[in-house]
Parts: sequence; structure tokens; C-alpha cells
Amino acid sequence: MKTSTIKRVALVTGAGRGIGRAIAIAFAKSGFRVAITARTVAELTDVADEIRAAGGETMTLAADLSDRAAPARIVQAVKRELGPVEILVNNAGIGSSQDPRPLVDFDDDFWDLTMAVNVTAPYLLCKQVLPDMLTRNWGRILTIASINGKVGSLHGAAYSASKHAILGLTKTIALEVARHGVTANAICPGPVRTVLNDRRIAYDAERLGTEVAQLETSMTPLGRRLEPEEIAPLAVYLASDAAAAVTGQAYNIDGGVVMSG
Ligand code: NAP
Repeated sequence: MKTSTIKRVALVTGAGRGIGRAIAIAFAKSGFRVAITARTVAELTDVADEIRAAGGETMTLAADLSDRAAPARIVQAVKRELGPVEILVNNAGIGSSQDPRPLVDFDDDFWDLTMAVNVTAPYLLCKQVLPDMLTRNWGRILTIASINGKVGSLHGAAYSASKHAILGLTKTIALEVARHGVTANAICPGPVRTVLNDRRIAYDAERLGTEVAQLETSMTPLGRRLEPEEIAPLAVYLASDAAAAVTGQAYNIDGGVVMSG
């Protein structure tokens, strides 16, 4: 692993698999000390083993982000073991595919759960990490939103609403802390090959009466889904000193699905 002179402390939520895993590993390779959290201990252990085997430094924290007490517990534990969080990646999320339905049939409990994990948990995590970032005049808040934060998601009202909401939160934080060395940005992925997206593709293939493999070729102008490792390099850049002037932005990495903003 490459070592940098400043070994920044990063916290990545939902880092047990998929996009969060790829970002955590890329951060470790960039020399950050990386705290990783999710509910599934076995997946966190796998990621931690991979980071440590390559010479990186990490800690794991099992937590359910639908629990409002979890963000404070996570951030305080990281502070005790590694130091104050300097880079927060709000990546953990619930997809539309867990219970897709037209709005009139939407399940209210699923709406609440989606908002709790996709919006309230990042809000609470930001509240926890910002005081130390402001004191130290350096910080990076990065949220993995979605292109569904810019366009609608058929049968995914809670998902799309939550991702639009998180972009509003990101831009508001960016405004509030811009003069204190702290940036807040979002990455908006299109379809990425993960557990979350596998379920969505299976739902859409059945709905459209087609095969998953066939649907996959038509999901992006690239003719394929993206890989989690294709999201990580932008996260590394946005977390770096070089990105000090970039704030309040929401960058699509979507293979060209949305080209209008
Ligand atoms: P994934 O493979 O399903 O991974 C999601 C991660 O979030 C897992 O580590 C999961 O771990 C964690 N998580 C889920 N619910 C949680 C909870 N209640 N408490 C704590 N951790 C929780 O999904 P992914 O595709 O990598 O998604 C990552 C982010 O990218 C999400 O915010 C998603 O909306 C966004 N995104 C994904 C795509 C895509 O096509 N894949 C596109 C646009 C945006 P546990 O289940 O162990 O808790």
C-alpha cells in the first residue's frame, strides 16, 4: 500500500460490499486509515482482512443505521480508536428493489425505513463529524447518492425521494461550511453491479418480460452496468487536498445515462 505523509481518518458506511467496499479499499491504498461499518460482520471482516493484508490500517464497526443512536456510537468509537473522522462517506443505502411498488400501493413502513437509512442516518453522521472538522479547518463529506436523485425511479418513490433529499442536504452543508476547509459533495452512480442493483435488474426484467442479460446491455449507453471499482477513483479525488475548491457538487458516474446535469 502507498503511504502518505498525512494518514487521514476516513469513515465509510455500508463498506461490507459493493460500492462502499471498493471505496474503503481504494482509500486504504491511498494511505487513509479507514473505519468501515455495516450490519454484516462477516463482510466487514473480509474487507478488513483485505486492507490489512495489503498493509493498510482499518477498524470495523457493526451497526444498523436505521437505529438513530448508531451514528453517535460509530463516530465516537472511531474517534477513540483512530482519531476524529476527517473524511465521511455516506454510502450505506437501501435500494428501491427491496419492495418496489407504484405509489398508490407503497408500503409506509418501507418509506420510513428508506428515509431513516438513506437520509436521517447521513444527516446524523454529518452532525457528529462536523464539529471536529470545523475545529481542525479540514474535512470531506461525500455522499453516494444516485442518478435517481436527479430523475425519478419507477416504483421506487422512497428511493428517488431519499436520493433527491440527500443532494439537498449535501448542498446545504457545502454552503454552511465552505469557509472552514470542509467540502461536501455527492457521487450519483447509474447502474452498478452490486447486490442492491442485481435485485432491481431482476425486478425490471420480470416486469418487462425480458432476460436479465438482455436488459443489462440496454441499461446504459455503454451497453453494460458499471463496476464498483469505477466509482472509487472519484471518491478518492473528492477526499483529497487537491479537491479543496470542489464543493456542493453532484457528479454522475453512470455510463452516460443522464447527460443533462
Ligand atoms: P449493496 O451492495 O447492497 O451494499 C449496501 C451496503 O450498505 C452494505 O454494506 C450494507 O450492509 C449496508 N447497509 C444497508 N442497510 C444498512 C443498515 N440499515 N445499516 C447499516 N448498513 C446498511 O449496495 P450498493 O449498490 O453498493 O449501494 C451503495 C450505495 O450506492 C447506496 O447508497 C445506493 O443507493 C447507491 N447506489 C447504488 C447504485 C447501484 O446500481 N448499485 C446506483 C446508484 C446509487 P449490511 O446489509 O450488512 O448492513
